Amino acid sequence: MNHLNGDVKFLKGVGDWRAKNLKKLDIEKIEDIIEHFPRNYINRKTGMKIRELEAGVHSSIVGVINHIEKRKTSNNNDQLNVYISDGVSEIICTWFRFNKWTLEQLQIGKEIWVSGMITQYKSSLQIIHPDMEILEDATEEHEFWKTRNYLPIYPLTAKISIKLLRNLVYNVFSLYVSEIEDNLPQKIMKKYNFLPRKIALQKIHFPTTLDNLETYKAQFIYEEFFFQQLMLARNHELNMTQPIGRKFQFKKTYTSKLKKNLPYNLTSAQNRVLREIVSDMNSDYQMNRLLQGDVGSGKTIVTLFAILLAIENNTQAALMAPTEILAEQHFKTISALLINEKISIALLKGGNYKGKKALKEQIANGEIDIIIGTHALIQKDVSFKNIGFVAIDEQHRFGVKQRAFLSQKNNFPDVLYLSATPIPRSLAMTVFGDLEVSIIDELPPNRKPIKTFWRSAGKINLVYQEVKKQLLKGQQIYIVCPLISESEKIDLLSAETLFEELDKNIFKEFHIALLHGKMKNKEKDTIMAAFKSKKIDILISTTVIEVGIDIPNASVMIIEHSERFGLSQLHQLRGRVGRGSSEAFCYLISYPPVSREAKERLSTMVKTNDGFEIAEKDLEIRGPGDFFGTIQSGMPRYKHANILRDQDILKMARKDAFEIVKEDYNFIKPENKELKKFYERNYLEREKLHRY
Ligand code: ADP
Ligand code: MG
Repeated sequence: MNHLNGDVKFLKGVGDWRAKNLKKLDIEKIEDIIEHFPRNYINRKTGMKIRELEAGVHSSIVGVINHIEKRKTSNNNDQLNVYISDGVSEIICTWFRFNKWTLEQLQIGKEIWVSGMITQYKSSLQIIHPDMEILEDATEEHEFWKTRNYLPIYPLTAKISIKLLRNLVYNVFSLYVSEIEDNLPQKIMKKYNFLPRKIALQKIHFPTTLDNLETYKAQFIYEEFFFQQLMLARNHELNMTQPIGRKFQFKKTYTSKLKKNLPYNLTSAQNRVLREIVSDMNSDYQMNRLLQGDVGSGKTIVTLFAILLAIENNTQAALMAPTEILAEQHFKTISALLINEKISIALLKGGNYKGKKALKEQIANGEIDIIIGTHALIQKDVSFKNIGFVAIDEQHRFGVKQRAFLSQKNNFPDVLYLSATPIPRSLAMTVFGDLEVSIIDELPPNRKPIKTFWRSAGKINLVYQEVKKQLLKGQQIYIVCPLISESEKIDLLSAETLFEELDKNIFKEFHIALLHGKMKNKEKDTIMAAFKSKKIDILISTTVIEVGIDIPNASVMIIEHSERFGLSQLHQLRGRVGRGSSEAFCYLISYPPVSREAKERLSTMVKTNDGFEIAEKDLEIRGPGDFFGTIQSGMPRYKHANILRDQDILKMARKDAFEIVKEDYNFIKPENKELKKFYERNYLEREKLHRY
């Protein structure tokens, strides 16, 4: 038995209560302790003196707390100044955000280590939000640590002291170091010159020098990516080798006719992705393909070809969309394009309504060929006679389970996941690493880039004047507001207030309507239809129009309180215009205060129309966790790796993992025995959950 797999609560000095707190640090098993890496180190021997510090340089010093001052800033926020002295000179450490725990720790007379960017404040040196560590009496600390030049500083939580953690680390290594095994195949260890895991770990926890630390850490980053990619590789391999899907024949009845009757030619990118999709559908494996394309790149028509291929082969096809407005729009577009064909198309919506029961029966007995709908499609009481193809539009709006649901129906239909949120490559490789990916990287011709302006709310009348010119030319306008009605809590312009004002005054000669998520579906449908048929000039709406709406004659968008929207969301919203051939405009209206990040978002929008560039920027501003929070559930959590920083390592790990799985899916080869053991213990369960 390997002790490292044991529960941390059985370690001496831990117990249930501390185990619960360690869990907050993601430490549950004993082995989690050895991978809980220091975030910094205190150098005890050769510390710098405060007078040697230079502004603009990242440095660490040790001193004693002389004085603590809590005050209010000019805009009434808390500020904490802590004066630290090394006996000769003083430095001020400043916090603008701090919690009770920080306050408790900071006490006059305590010895403290601080680290951070040195800045100059008037005649003093200052560190804002330093990394810190109280060097209190080291008596309880294990003798071992007293002899070290470098003391590790670990990420902590309120109830876990640095002393406890250091002692745990020391204990685990002294008791179980011989049980630390390598998880990677020797071949890979050699290829990258990785150290045996137990040695690399000790160099990280107990360094004698801080040189090369990044190199030692890189192997743990690699390891993390590698196992995750093994999992994706295995799912991918399973998809590609188990002939459980449909094999469609190319009959060219409906598909060829559609191509001939389209009012435009497909772009070469559309043709290319279509070939990729068709080749999947012609094989007897289940298709699991992600179709990525920026807003307006024409994913719907590509999907329709795939739908028709399934219909030609006498199966049913389904298209699921996240909102009723969008499902309705797809239903109308597709019905219109197939008006002369003997294909029955139905729209299945949520809730109870007249005729729904009969419709479900028709779907079950195969009378309906194409079923378009919302989440209603994945309710238990909906069954299909013979579903051969499924497309999931705006796939990120659905949960992992919801997406997987339809792919398990009948004889495993081919599945196409559509995504209008361009996903940076590094993220696509991790989250969709087991799907095939097709990218439409070209917009239909004649599209002019949307001209985007960022205006402060004070200039709104100038914006209205400019917009009026477009209205007079017969163009239509969206105005997006974050709120429906006035709220007592937040002081934002609401859609209702704006409607009143524009309708009575500024745009009184035009037809204005209001659309929001709280309206009855019927009402929403009527308004969208009226807007589409140009009976309405200005549509004031909440973000319900964010997803997929396609009205080519609408060429101007005003986004109120644009400082409150995320970058990807702004891009999706803006994507509602610029779909026709006339020049399109987007006005981003901001209200003070506009945070630094919001400024960055808005100026990015002004600078570029390119969805991939915007996604990369969004990822950079928000970081992977947040970025994916709104785009995708199922974002893996990493202990050491950072998708943005470590893209190169990710690529190598992915390549290696896919090669190994291709050669040895079940890890039978002796050279893969270490990997097999670790994989089965940590990834086998997760693999099933991640399967599409
Ligand atoms: P999205 O990829 O955002 O879902 P849509 O499928 O809604 O985009 O297409 C956007 C608009 O572009 C639609 O009005 C569609 O008819 C039009 N369109 C699609 N492909 C082409 C093309 N090859 N040439 C011209 N217009 C096209
Ligand atoms: Mg779409």
